[in-house]
Amino acid sequence: MKVLIIGAGILGASLSYRLSRAGAEVTVLEADQPASAASGRSFGWINASFYADAAHHALRVAAMAAHHRLAADLPEAGHIWQGALWFETEGVGFEQMHSALKALGYPVDVLGQAEVTALEPALHAPPSRALRFPSEGAVNPAALTRSLLAASGAKVLSGIAAKSLIEVGGKITGARTAIGPIEAEHTVLAAGITTPRLLHGLGLNLAMVPRPGLLLRTDPVGFRLKHILISPEQEIRQLSDGGLLAPCAANHQADSAETIPDRAAAIAATLTNLRALFGPDISEAETVLGHRPYPADGLPALGLVAQGLSLAVMHSGVTLAALAAEALAAEIMGQGAHPLWHPYRPERLLIPQT
Ligand SMILES: Cc1cc2nc3c(=O)[nH]c(=O)nc-3n(C[C@H](O)[C@H](O)[C@H](O)COP(=O)(O)OP(=O)(O)OC[C@H]3O[C@@H](n4cnc5c(N)ncnc54)[C@H](O)[C@@H]3O)c2cc1C
Repeated sequence: MKVLIIGAGILGASLSYRLSRAGAEVTVLEADQPASAASGRSFGWINASFYADAAHHALRVAAMAAHHRLAADLPEAGHIWQGALWFETEGVGFEQMHSALKALGYPVDVLGQAEVTALEPALHAPPSRALRFPSEGAVNPAALTRSLLAASGAKVLSGIAAKSLIEVGGKITGARTAIGPIEAEHTVLAAGITTPRLLHGLGLNLAMVPRPGLLLRTDPVGFRLKHILISPEQEIRQLSDGGLLAPCAANHQADSAETIPDRAAAIAATLTNLRALFGPDISEAETVLGHRPYPADGLPALGLVAQGLSLAVMHSGVTLAALAAEALAAEIMGQGAHPLWHPYRPERLLIPQT
């Protein structure tokens, strides 16, 4: 089967990999360069401690397992399963987080201050207690995107945008581009925040909301963190070059800001927080702005939207990508829809234009 994927972020690349493995002939159209949008500006945490409800938690747990399958298949994917230490909230919030995750059967330990200090001696003021999520990990989403595209063997056309979708007799048969039409038996929209613009040409509005996020990277530091840290002000993880990576918003996955009114102030506050945690020797190397592809209800959207057309648009797309790709590849190849994705069909977000 000939499949055209529009967008070479982590979702398009993951799908390209799974579809190619399933025997499809895949072309990937990328308006810019692979991982140039959200997937190149992402914290890269793979987790199920952030979730909306039990179904969303189960989806994320299954998505973590799919990342393990991918890591076994593709060792160059670069997953690191270092676990996470969560001390975002004290008191009742801490108890609620712990009991809710325990009730869901999620691996979680409570650590006292001495245990936290022993595990993370770089913390200047260790919390009195923390939750440890031993199964969580992280990946470099840009590197993973490139590895998946290379391993897929798909034809990747970088610097070529899909201008519009081609519809023949109610079926989508590919996309128009500056180098001419590209025909396919099935087309997938994995174009992140640009997805609604392409659907608009079919008379459909996809409800999405803006969710910009700043991501700060520090110069290499003189200590080594063992875990991903979730502090009250920031999530932090360490990169292989020794630099720290930190979104400039607390609880960044639930960050509901639609604008960033003062970028300099957000960066200064993040540096102040990092210095309070680890001491004064923290300096900014770079801060980038990313736009999370965020369906209006905050939940992922995956599946068929019209004859010959599917879409894959989601936040927490790094966590979900490996499972989303397995599920959508199977659906496109005629094996039916994956039950865990049932609540996340795109139709709930599609409003016909009046
Ligand atoms: C600051 C920040 C932190 C985050 N942290 C996490 C995290 O810790 N864990 C997690 O799971 N998720 C996280 N996310 C979310 C995650 O990064 C995204 O959900 C994911 O990267 C989305 O991938 P994507 O492939 O759907 O979209 P994108 O990476 O945005 O890719 C879409 C691609 O489509 C291309 N494109 C657009 N229009 C066209 C067109 N017309 N023709 C051809 N190509 C086109 C774009 O150029 C782009 O390359 C974070 C995001 C941000 C911004």
